[in-house]
Amino acid sequence: MPWPSVADDPVLEMIVSEEVRQNTTLQLIASENFASPAVMAATGSVLTNKYSEGYPHRRYYGGNMVIDEIEDEARRRVCALFGADHANVQPHAGAIANMAVYQAVLEPGDTVLGMSLDHGGHLTHGSPVNFSGQQYRFVSYGVTASDERIDFEDMAAKAHAEKPKLIVAGATAYPRIIDPNPLREIADEVGALLMFDAAHIAGLIAGGVHPNPVGIADIVTFTTHKTLRGPRGGCVLSSEQYAAAIDKAMFPGIQGGPLEHAIGAKAIAFAEASTPEFSDYAALIVSNAAALAKALAGHGFRLVSGGTDNHLLLIDLRAFDPDLTGKQAQTVLDTAGISLNKNTVPDDPRSPFVTSGIRVGTPSVSTQGMGPDEMGEIAELIARALRGRDDAGVVDSVRADVGGLCSRFCPYPGLGV
Ligand SMILES: *Cc1c(COP(=O)(O)O)cnc(C)c1O
Repeated sequence: MPWPSVADDPVLEMIVSEEVRQNTTLQLIASENFASPAVMAATGSVLTNKYSEGYPHRRYYGGNMVIDEIEDEARRRVCALFGADHANVQPHAGAIANMAVYQAVLEPGDTVLGMSLDHGGHLTHGSPVNFSGQQYRFVSYGVTASDERIDFEDMAAKAHAEKPKLIVAGATAYPRIIDPNPLREIADEVGALLMFDAAHIAGLIAGGVHPNPVGIADIVTFTTHKTLRGPRGGCVLSSEQYAAAIDKAMFPGIQGGPLEHAIGAKAIAFAEASTPEFSDYAALIVSNAAALAKALAGHGFRLVSGGTDNHLLLIDLRAFDPDLTGKQAQTVLDTAGISLNKNTVPDDPRSPFVTSGIRVGTPSVSTQGMGPDEMGEIAELIARALRGRDDAGVVDSVRADVGGLCSRFCPYPGLGV
């Protein structure tokens, strides 16, 4: 075929460089994971060529007989996995899934209760720099000053005072279980709808290690690429009552043609997540996070809320070293081959661009098959690099040890060579 030749395109080399980076450095970003070869094969398949605006058996274009089967299968699998009545598997991302829900159930200017960004909420939960905070009137709840867990009393008081149309639960940097039951009670007391944004913890729910909000919340959204370990994308689950409004908001309301290569990959990820091996994996994520928390505390780090019940830890660096910012820590650790992100801690005196904390997650290292011993090694590597951050020799020695650890648990053998 007369394809233009791109054999010497530098981007192809850059992809190999990224394969090398993922294979030889530690990925501790809590929202990342390593997708399976089957998921990656689907995302790189001919499904990317097809236009399929609309929904299965109601498409705008012809030629969708196979695509319809794939999208139907994805919807069936995810409904079975979470026990939902209806699924929309088309959102290009988690943010779009949330946008479609808001468009389906709210009018511009409506009041919504969501978790504040600096206490662990997501941009789409009402941040003023995000469409959510610009189009709707978000009121924030957060965590208590004492135990740094969700302040249900304050949330209930705000719900009664503000009478929100919708309560948004879920977080992006919160290390504890979020029980959907007290949220349902508060929503019922004030006649609000409840949306549970399970973006981060969908894999923990699918694996049976965290409570399932489906059937308790009216609507559940999530991303497919975080703990669920599928392709980059989003999903919305709901009862039949909201199905038509959500589908209409997604298309034609917000998106055009769905990414059917991502939907095929989602279907594969949903099947993978329904296996006993995936339940073991979800349990390993949580036990690794607990082991890492314990080991880091032993090196003098303070854990926000005192520990973790999920896949992530939020570390307040001030107890370890009051002069060390999250921004500096992220930079030093990047040099040492440890990839994670700076993060505000509750009531952080530093700005979101500087921060006093870092967020550390175990989904990727658990996919690699690391266990509690390796969590101890990782804690030691982090502590050593941060203590010796002004000494290039120390940072280099950590980088070498990271390479050794990764070579024993290579995520993609054969790639990046
Ligand atoms: C990651 C995340 C999202 C957004 O997902 P994207 O795919 O990045 O758009 C939404 N909500 C929460 C709580 C998240 O953690």
